[in-house]
Formats: sequence, C-alpha cells, structure tokens
Amino acid sequence: MKIGQRLDIVNISKYYGDFKVLDSINLVCEPGEFVTILGSSGSGKTTLLKVIAGFESNSDGSIHINNESIAKRKAYERNIGMLFQNYALFPHMTVEENVAYPLKLRKVPKKEIKERVENILNVVKLNNMGKRYPKQLSGGQQQRVALARAIVYNPPLLLLDEPLGALDMNLRHNMQFEIKRITKELGITTISVTHDQEEAFAMSDKICIMSDGKVQQFASPEEIYERPSNRFVAEFMGTTNIIGIKDITYIKKDNNHTLIKGITEISEAPMELLAETKYIKTDIKEALFTLRPESIRLASEKSYNNEFTVKLEESVYLGERVKIKATALNKLLNINLNVNEFRNLENTDKVKLVFAPEDIAVIYDK
Ligand code: ADP
Repeated sequence: MKIGQRLDIVNISKYYGDFKVLDSINLVCEPGEFVTILGSSGSGKTTLLKVIAGFESNSDGSIHINNESIAKRKAYERNIGMLFQNYALFPHMTVEENVAYPLKLRKVPKKEIKERVENILNVVKLNNMGKRYPKQLSGGQQQRVALARAIVYNPPLLLLDEPLGALDMNLRHNMQFEIKRITKELGITTISVTHDQEEAFAMSDKICIMSDGKVQQFASPEEIYERPSNRFVAEFMGTTNIIGIKDITYIKKDNNHTLIKGITEISEAPMELLAETKYIKTDIKEALFTLRPESIRLASEKSYNNEFTVKLEESVYLGERVKIKATALNKLLNINLNVNEFRNLENTDKVKLVFAPEDIAVIYDK
C-alpha cells in the first residue's frame, strides 16, 4: 500500500515580531515525492518545517494535506511523522517497544501492533534486533529504529530535519540511500531540510532552494543545476562562472531553441549561446549566463566559435582534475581541466579555451 499524500503549501508567510521569516511560500509535493528544502543557515527552513508540523503558526496562507486544510488541526492531530537530528529513542525500551510506542498511543490492537512492528522492522532491515536496547545498537541502526518509529503508524507525511547531521561521512551516505529506499518503498511523501547540497542531490525528486524566507527555485535537481532561475541559485549550487553578455540578438534556431549572439565579458569577439526558448526574454538586450568550470575545454584546431584566451593565474591538483583560476579580459574564471589536458600547458601562461554554446544557462537578474 502506498501511503503518501499530497501536500499543498499556499502563500505561507510568517513573522517573528516585525521580522518576516517566511515570505509567501508556495510548494506542491505530489504523493510519494521526496522534497528537500535546501538553504543556508537562517534562511527559514526549520521554521517552514515547524509550520507544517503545527509547532509554529503561520501569519498568512494555508496548508492542505490531500486537498484538506490542516489549519485547525493541532500538531498531534496532524499525524505527521518526524525525524530530527536528536532522535531520542527511549533507552529503557527495546527496539520493538520503541517502534510500538506510537501505535500504543493510538490504541491500535495488540495483534496488529505486533504485525506492524515486525513489518516495519523488516523494511528498515532490523528484523533480528527487536529485543535489543538502543545502547546495544550502532548509530546508524539507532537511526533506523527512529525512522521506523516515525513511520510505523502510516503518517500521510514524513518530515526530516537534518536527520543525518550527527553521523559520520560513510554512515551518512549509507543512510541517505536507506532513507530514500524506505520512503520510496512505502511511497511516503517526505520533506527533508538540509544545508548539504550533496545530500539534497542524492535524495530528492525535487529541491526547494530558500534564502531570506523566500523560495528561490523549486524544481528537479537536474533543472536546478542546469537551469538555475537566478544568480543566487547558480552560485549556491557549487562553483560556477557568471558572465555578462550585452548587445544581444536572438535568433530562433528550431522549435525549442534560441541562439543568442552578443558581446561577453570574456572576449572581444561576439559569442554564441544556445538556450531553450522557454527561458528566453527576447526583448532584453543584456543578461548573464552561467558556465560551469567543467564545461570549459582547451580549444582544438577544429573549434571556431566561442574561443577565448585566458591568462593562467593559479592551479590546484585534485587527482584526475586540475582546478584553475584564470583571467579572460578582466574576468576571473574557475576552470576544471583533466590532468592530461593541463600537462600540455606547461610553460605557457596564455591559453585558448572554448565552450559549447549549449553548455550554459541564461539568467536575467543582476
Ligand atoms: P534555518 O532553519 O534555515 O537555519 P530558521 O527557520 O531556524 O532558519 O530561522 C530563520 C530566521 O528566523 C533566523 O534569522 C532566525 O534567527 C529567526 N528565528 C527563528 N526562530 C525564531 C524565534 N522563535 N523568534 C525570533 N526569531 C526566530
């Protein structure tokens, strides 16, 4: 049985005194979707989670689970599953007793409790650990017990607040995989909060990037990485170059693509960018575009457009890749080349580079 339900967050705002901590948030999570709210510290992520859970009230807007407003429901009546970083298990109860606890509270018959606990311990792969006490388990196992306890009563929604924050790197990666597997297996709609980009990419169907209490972009991980909607998102998602382009002309290339020609900050010669037409504003003559360090290559004899010359400033070896800083005209660029490409450059400081017109994303804010 798939238990996940649809969540609609409609125009949610919240003030602490005069301070607007959430600013007209709109999000839709489809049944069974895994959505991550990603943002730096202080962006309002935890407050949003608390508003959904019912621990904090919103000043404006509404929240609906399966198209039904939950405004009048208190936190415990919302029946939402929660897993936080400090998932306190009851130390004096066995694994089974811990997991059975929410079912007992809900007065589920004993026989059914037994079945459901067994079932969920199977899902989290702890079926032979039911009689142990929390202190007899590893950190990762304890966390799986906490997860089992959060989902054993089939909540319509699971909220995770930095649940992996306290775990070491290896365990973190394992648990990312496990949590994703378990939530997908049960089809549970999940909202997770993190400041860790890699975790967001590893786990999510959709990512909501927040800053200053606002949603900056809500889309699939691929879309956010490849088509950031503004400068903030582009800079937040890993190292990139943000380059100005002016005197733009737009030429329709085919049904879906537009060729953009203009003068960029990195070359005196005009350059060509290729973008999906739906992202283009043909009345605007100046824009920015993002160019990822790994999309920049050494120019070969064959390349002709989008060549530009850089002066190498510094380089750092990272095993197979070399991370380079270089200037084109006066613009400092981040470039990644593979080691073999880089070896050919020894004893030169001026290098011709190139990028493919389609390896960019156009953004229109400054
Ligand atoms: P995040 O989870 O993204 O780190 P929070 O939602 O915890 O951000 O906080 C967002 C902003 O709201 C921060 O500037 C924080 O200082 C402020 N804030 C959080 N809780 C309260 C509160 N109870 N009273 C006043 N300000 C608060």
